Amino acid sequence: MVDEKGLRIKIGELRSDLGLFKDLEVSIGRVISEEWLEEAGPTQFPSITDLRDWDLKLLQRYKPFYMPFCDLCCLCTFGKCDLTGDKRGACGLNMAGQQSRIVLLACCIGAATHISHARHLVDYLIEKFGRDHPIDVGGLNVEVEAPITRLVCGIKPKTLGDLEDVLGYLERELTRLLAAAHTGQEESNLDFESKVFHAGMIDHVGLEIADIAQISALGFPKAEPEAPLADIGLGVVDSAKPVILVIGHNVPPAAEIVDYLMKNGLYGGVEVTGLCCTAHDVTRYNPKAKIIGPISWQLRFIRSGVADVIIVDEQCIRADTLIEAQKIKAPVIATSDVNCMGLPNRTRDEADRIVEDLVSGKQQGALILDPAKAAEVAVKTALLVAPRRMKFKALPDVSDIIEGARSCRKCDDCRRACPNDLPIREALAKALEGSLDALASLYDECVGCARCESACPINLPLHSFIVRAAERRLKEEKYKIRVGRGAIQDVEIRNVGSPIVLGEIPGVVAFVGCANYPKGGAEVAEMAIEFARRRYIVVASGCAAMSIAMHKDEEGKSPYEIFPGVFDAGGIVNVGSCVANAHI
Ligand code: SF4
Ligand code: SF4
Ligand code: SF4
Repeated sequence: MVDEKGLRIKIGELRSDLGLFKDLEVSIGRVISEEWLEEAGPTQFPSITDLRDWDLKLLQRYKPFYMPFCDLCCLCTFGKCDLTGDKRGACGLNMAGQQSRIVLLACCIGAATHISHARHLVDYLIEKFGRDHPIDVGGLNVEVEAPITRLVCGIKPKTLGDLEDVLGYLERELTRLLAAAHTGQEESNLDFESKVFHAGMIDHVGLEIADIAQISALGFPKAEPEAPLADIGLGVVDSAKPVILVIGHNVPPAAEIVDYLMKNGLYGGVEVTGLCCTAHDVTRYNPKAKIIGPISWQLRFIRSGVADVIIVDEQCIRADTLIEAQKIKAPVIATSDVNCMGLPNRTRDEADRIVEDLVSGKQQGALILDPAKAAEVAVKTALLVAPRRMKFKALPDVSDIIEGARSCRKCDDCRRACPNDLPIREALAKALEGSLDALASLYDECVGCARCESACPINLPLHSFIVRAAERRLKEEKYKIRVGRGAIQDVEIRNVGSPIVLGEIPGVVAFVGCANYPKGGAEVAEMAIEFARRRYIVVASGCAAMSIAMHKDEEGKSPYEIFPGVFDAGGIVNVGSCVANAHI
């Protein structure tokens, strides 16, 4: 067995001239199997403590500053412990230790999410394409296929199988980091912070592993500056066709849906739409798929009632998706063990039997852990549900809004709960006077969280009222996005090197993450356009890359149609989903 630590041979029994050896185990340090031009560094596959001295040096120079978001610790059965002032908890921990511990836990969750996503992908791709499938993210245009992995682990992954060693390392480190957060382990806030750095480092390796694996095996664009354009927006969906909605970050079920449609001559007859990073990646797989939008578009799209079946995989999926799907009578298929949604596991059942149960309403959803079977069930279910959905009214009528406005108690609980302080009560009052314009005007700043609904004492579906009032706008939301191109080519990097040093290109600006704050999407788009006009290189990924697309100039063009996708002055470069951040 060869792993990142070297070669290990186990022999049950060995007869030789020297005698009989039983349970012989031979370990040979690290195997250097390839030629490196540069000398190997001292910290390949570093453990938590390998880089600790360096971390502590940084942390002593740049001291952490804490603004506790909670004064209590409730992480063990001794608690709750009050940690305000100089107080210590029953275990002896103080506030600095607790704050840094919480940050470590948050970073472990983030790292675990990407590493487990990478593991899911690599396992699936190895099963489908084999361990020897080559890693190729840009052919001769990208010499360093995995810069972060090379830097941290000191290996050059050549095949999907090579990525397993790296994943094994990441999973081991993650377990150790989590163990450190247990009560009565680490005490020093600086050591917690050092572990936070370690979590961030392995997180980035996980991101890279996930993206280079899917680029290599699923035929995504390989460092293509002119990757194709895809449709994005709530208005791009043809609701006259059966509509499948995929939500999450792990693309295999969505890719299998595309394959199933093609194999069965159904492609073009069924809409494959997506929210969040799965949407990015399914357009990298097939640019005819459509992106609805970022995470904050979930509720408004589900409530619009256009989806016939909803497929969820992992990450950034609303916890109430099943409840919301039931309101529009759309079956839900969960496809990941990290997000089972309380659904019965139907993985071993025949596809047609599952379809029957979903279409008849006997079951509202199913957990199907086989992506190909989930795809077959999704397509067959969508075909049968669509005719029924087309007769079903999902959003409230104007009369429902007026009725709701009439019963409003004017308590303003909705506004107090709203993260954006939106004047919902006033808008309802205008609706009662006969105008929905005020409600519709809330749409731009509404992030679709539905906190207003949870707060409303008479349970008015306020978010649905806003979406209904802005329905005409929704249908006009049609934009173009350049699909995620993946890595940057070596020649592009070489070309901009000296112009950046000489100041001809002012810099590189990255837009990453979700813009789910008031007018966040519009502001991200405006900033990206302004930087591109000023000759910056603009790079983007995930929901931010979607937000940039959802903007039009006077001629009706989206930024990706106006600015080139090249990594150069004035380019707007969509690298892909969140795991594609590794290329940035
Ligand atoms: S971990 Fe420590 S501070 Fe937290 S609840 Fe337990 S005893 Fe109290
Ligand atoms: S759904 Fe919109 S209006 Fe309601 S609380 Fe959230 S942001 Fe405010
Ligand atoms: S919380 Fe409900 S009842 Fe109160 S003002 Fe808002 S809409 Fe009216």
